Amino acid sequence: MIYKRSSALFEEAQQFIPGGVNSPVRAFKAVGGTPIFVKEAKGAYLYDEDGNRLIDYIASWGPLILGHAYEPVINAVIEKAKKGTSFGMPTEIETQLAKLAVSMVPNIDKIRFVNSGTEACMSAVRLARGYTGKDKIIKFAGCYHGHSDSFLIQAGSGAVTFGSPNSPGVTQGTAKDTLLAEYNDLESVKALTTANKEEIAAVIIEPIAGNMGCIIPSDSFIKGLRELCTQEGILLIFDEVMTGFRLGKGGAQEVLGIDADIVTFGKVIGGGLPVGAFAARNEIMAYLAPEGPVYQAGTLSGNPLAMSAGLAMLTELNEHPEVFESLAKKTEYLAKGIEKVLDKHGVVYQMNRLGSMMSVHFTDEPVVDFKSSVKGNNDFFKKYFHGMLNHGVYLPPSAFESYFLNDALSYEDLDATILALDKIAPTLK
Ligand SMILES: *Cc1c(COP(=O)(O)O)cnc(C)c1O
Repeated sequence: MIYKRSSALFEEAQQFIPGGVNSPVRAFKAVGGTPIFVKEAKGAYLYDEDGNRLIDYIASWGPLILGHAYEPVINAVIEKAKKGTSFGMPTEIETQLAKLAVSMVPNIDKIRFVNSGTEACMSAVRLARGYTGKDKIIKFAGCYHGHSDSFLIQAGSGAVTFGSPNSPGVTQGTAKDTLLAEYNDLESVKALTTANKEEIAAVIIEPIAGNMGCIIPSDSFIKGLRELCTQEGILLIFDEVMTGFRLGKGGAQEVLGIDADIVTFGKVIGGGLPVGAFAARNEIMAYLAPEGPVYQAGTLSGNPLAMSAGLAMLTELNEHPEVFESLAKKTEYLAKGIEKVLDKHGVVYQMNRLGSMMSVHFTDEPVVDFKSSVKGNNDFFKKYFHGMLNHGVYLPPSAFESYFLNDALSYEDLDATILALDKIAPTLK
């Protein structure tokens, strides 16, 4: 494939935008090569600036669960835009989306809309701190909760006491309040709660991890985590920015059968427009301003265009919940097809999958946490990514990202993807 125009556009972008992109993973640093500039998209396909058609397995990193330019969403946005784009005053559609989201998700009474998943997680932590009167939080290595300071933390030398910043600009003062545990390792959490008794406000987790590739929590881990939090008076925050309205109407809470104390959303809830949200039971949400003392605000929060896209999207999912089943079937079909091809060619891999999230890790060890996910062979991954791209298949440009299937993908698209893999698999050695 030719990427002449994309290359030229990237050159120009780099002169005016740091690294040429507005979010780092788009720059292809993990896989090398030139990022592809998109011209338009429809259904399961991206059309780039060089006229190539790509089968899309990312769908804008998750939001477009029904495919690109989905008509009911697009029409809702167009109609809304004609009536004004922002007021900074309450509108009825905010309540409509709130009511619908609360009806779909278990265990939440109220929801507050923000503009991104980052904002949602950042605000959820503030709310948890305000509610419990405690400062520290526990996060898991390899889980991503957006780019706010408290989450850009890696294991420090004294990991049991506190973490250390993993980006310049994050202060040591902030880092000391974020403790790091290992995914699927309840003992690592217990060690932290024991060493920091009565100091921990919340544990935040991706209930199904998607940011170190797809990783599924063991039943005993996630149940044990819930029990531990209840015993210790710690709020359990499920970051469902990725899983919410993707794994099912009720997201990971429903799939895992676990009630979280605070749930965060993003991606699907905005139908492709910038929306994030956090939600909880009445007693917790009552701490939020203006009802309570915990401050949180946003000029464009609950923006009518964003709300109309979210409302159209959630209405479709609520009325056609069979979509989740259809997506899971397509994902299973693709995963089985990929497994068959990789087995045939003797490529070593791990397939992790749940619902419409999946990832292929090029390692012979089960991938259950951050440590095991980084053991994947990144040279294989680069060849895999670029090989598939040359055959018109757009996979996540990093080994640490999950695929997000969308329901516009047809079985012909899946077959074409599996066939492409069969052609390139001999290079994965
Ligand atoms: C994408 C993501 C975020 C951050 O959302 P943004 O909208 O990019 O700020 C947070 N948590 C999880 C689990 C995510 O996948």
